Amino acid sequence: MTAKLRIEDLTHTFKGTQDIDVLDGLSITIRDGEFVTLLGPSGSGKSTIFNLIGGLIEPDQGDIFIDGKRVNGTRGNISYLPQQDSLLPWRTIEDNLVLVQEINGSVDRKRARKWLKRAGLGGYEDSYPNTLSGGMRQRVAFIRSLLSPQQLMLLDEPFGALDELTRLDMQDWLLKMWETDRRSVLFITHSIEEAIYMSDRILILSDKPAKIIKEIQVPFERPRHHDITLEDTFTK
Ligand code: ADP
Ligand code: MG
Repeated sequence: MTAKLRIEDLTHTFKGTQDIDVLDGLSITIRDGEFVTLLGPSGSGKSTIFNLIGGLIEPDQGDIFIDGKRVNGTRGNISYLPQQDSLLPWRTIEDNLVLVQEINGSVDRKRARKWLKRAGLGGYEDSYPNTLSGGMRQRVAFIRSLLSPQQLMLLDEPFGALDELTRLDMQDWLLKMWETDRRSVLFITHSIEEAIYMSDRILILSDKPAKIIKEIQVPFERPRHHDITLEDTFTK
């Protein structure tokens, strides 16, 4: 199988009054269509790995390949949902949702509205991000990454701020999208339960510099679905 994403010997230090060695020779390969989760202590370097893959920062050493093409320091062909709030405050919710589509040149506002409703946020199309709760904004950012066409998704704790039932619903939604579109996902969570439920493979990282200390192939059969949908509740 082809590697969707390959990072090789990635090394990175944040320079400052005290240098922080976040990565010291990390290598990870994600196969096409694979769902891989990173688990590790806070501050171990997980988000930094994503920022490197997403081209927001350049590694001191090492290489990043997406579909076999070296992308160090450039915005590769990925859908990236960062850990921190990433909605643009001056755009409405709907305009935030179609932002990536605008860049890709095919805007589908109907689908954006439909999915907003699907996520329990019908009626918020024309609202601005600062009028929504953290969990609501997190759902908007999640839908935005589902709406973008890229086959490789990086999701940094996308469900961290959600209540448990909404989280189950979003988990199933993501799994269904992943199955139908054959996307490749690199996922970060602090929940071992979520990691086991979602992933094909779990990589457990040490504290910084982040090293893979354990790799777990999840033995359960797919499809895995909770079959709990909150759509009816949301759309009342
Ligand atoms: P995690 O996502 O695993 O919680 P991060 O990748 O956010 O960890 O951070 C890893 C380490 O790098 C932390 O010690 C953090 O303080 C530091 N760090 C992250 N981003 C920066 C930055 N832009 N400048 C300086 N230090 C940073
Ligand atoms: Mg993080």
